[in-house]
Amino acid sequence: ALHNDSGKAVFDLLEQQFTIGEDVLVGLTKAFLEEFKLGLSEYNHDMAMIPTFVTGVPDGTETGTFLALDLGGTNLRVCEVVLNGDKTFNLVQQKYRVSETLKSGEATALFDYLADSVDAFLTTHATTEYTSPTEESPGAASADVHLGLTFSFPVEQTALGSGKILTWTKGFSAKNAVGHDVVKLLQDAFDRKHMHVKCVALVNDTVGALLSRAYQAGGCIAGAIFGTGTNGAYIEQVSKITKLKGSAAAEKGGEMVINTEWGAFNNSRSHLPTTPFDNAIDRLSINPKYQAFEKFISGMYLGEIVRNVLVSLVDATPSSLLFGGKSTPLLNKHYGLDTSFMSATEEAWIGDDNDQEAFVLPALHEEFKEEALSPKVVKKLKDIQAVIVKTLGFKDGDVTIKDAAIVRWICSLVAKRAALLSGVAVATVLIQTEQATMKGERQPTRGLNQRLGVGVDGSLVEHYPNFGKILRESLRLLVGAEVEGRVEIGLAKDGSGVGAALCALMALKTQ
Ligand code: ADP
Repeated sequence: ALHNDSGKAVFDLLEQQFTIGEDVLVGLTKAFLEEFKLGLSEYNHDMAMIPTFVTGVPDGTETGTFLALDLGGTNLRVCEVVLNGDKTFNLVQQKYRVSETLKSGEATALFDYLADSVDAFLTTHATTEYTSPTEESPGAASADVHLGLTFSFPVEQTALGSGKILTWTKGFSAKNAVGHDVVKLLQDAFDRKHMHVKCVALVNDTVGALLSRAYQAGGCIAGAIFGTGTNGAYIEQVSKITKLKGSAAAEKGGEMVINTEWGAFNNSRSHLPTTPFDNAIDRLSINPKYQAFEKFISGMYLGEIVRNVLVSLVDATPSSLLFGGKSTPLLNKHYGLDTSFMSATEEAWIGDDNDQEAFVLPALHEEFKEEALSPKVVKKLKDIQAVIVKTLGFKDGDVTIKDAAIVRWICSLVAKRAALLSGVAVATVLIQTEQATMKGERQPTRGLNQRLGVGVDGSLVEHYPNFGKILRESLRLLVGAEVEGRVEIGLAKDGSGVGAALCALMALKTQ
């Protein structure tokens, strides 16, 4: 696009492209609710709305010792979890790296690696003699160690302890896995190695976050992940999961945890206001047209969106609008910029809402002048400048403090959009469960005055400055301040490990 030297038109367009107004958020929430309902009524919709066969949530009194294995993102984790029965637990864990070769090679190689990691953990880390409720009952004695698998990819679950892999996400693409039972793939690997480990439960990390938060807080209605990917789970009335009609679960009624797989919102229907940058990310991703919502929101993609925007400013014509037209190998590299870079540039903002003058759009037009800024703001800009120089590999002098202000502004635009959209997903759960209505509509019908626990996990929500605050802003816009005020968003620390242990316990109890 043509622009004058200040780049006003370019910056204005970026702001317009990445800003989501209240009306759009409301429209998206309505669309999200519709997708929820479609997913609950039939299989093969964007939103998988997977029945998990978890029919109750813990209250904190549960006890036992279990192994948990977590595969789902950047690391593989093996842990030993001791549930103490008083809302507390002890956990020992070890992380193992999953190489790109394993992610895209044969499934048997990947699952052999998982079994080897558990084996290594048992020899080097495990501290406890393994007991579990079934071993105490005569006749059912077993030397097996019971393990819960947290598997954070879409799975069509058929029982607490089995489920078919539907598709890979988040950069995985191992062959001969989709369509197979993930518990069997893992158990076969244990058996090949003659290990006395029995995988009894399969749980998604988002369900794990819900269960673990419920255990620690004595109750919870939803779990959500904002890490490498994004997803949510919540407690639904079985009568509303109409695709279960005719099944034993439907006969039984009551409640069941639903794993929404909300990262797939927008896959085949176009609801989200999409920028050319989003289209580029999607086109060059390993799963074009899949996990569309996740690509607007999660840690795996935000840094890449920012990188694309920065590069477009470096390349702008008739004159560059960033870094004097210079770039670096990292800035040029696909996925070269991690989302933690954005966090680092935004850190300067924390607790200082008054000093925003350098970071708002008018300041980025031609009138940006260092002399006019307060010393505090200049100091922040210099901190950001240092982060940029160091992280992207620039030389001192390549990055001006105006560049720093621009980068910080882009990061906040992209992150704010992600946090507002995350609020849409959480608001949808509140409305679907009748804890809330869309702001301005009639009052909620259930649980007035009740605390609404939401267990969250993931580096984005844990570390990104203001992510939680903006998510709440979004909730306030969508369901009103009264309900928003009752929503308790709490970190489900170690959610996947504790969740898997709780699920393994449930599986043994119902065996
Ligand atoms: P996972 O979801 O794989 O279990 P995490 O919750 O740690 O693991 O999420 C990892 C993702 O979070 C990566 O995509 C990374 O880019 C992003 N990330 C890591 N550190 C930060 C940070 N400080 N701020 C924001 N995002 C981060």
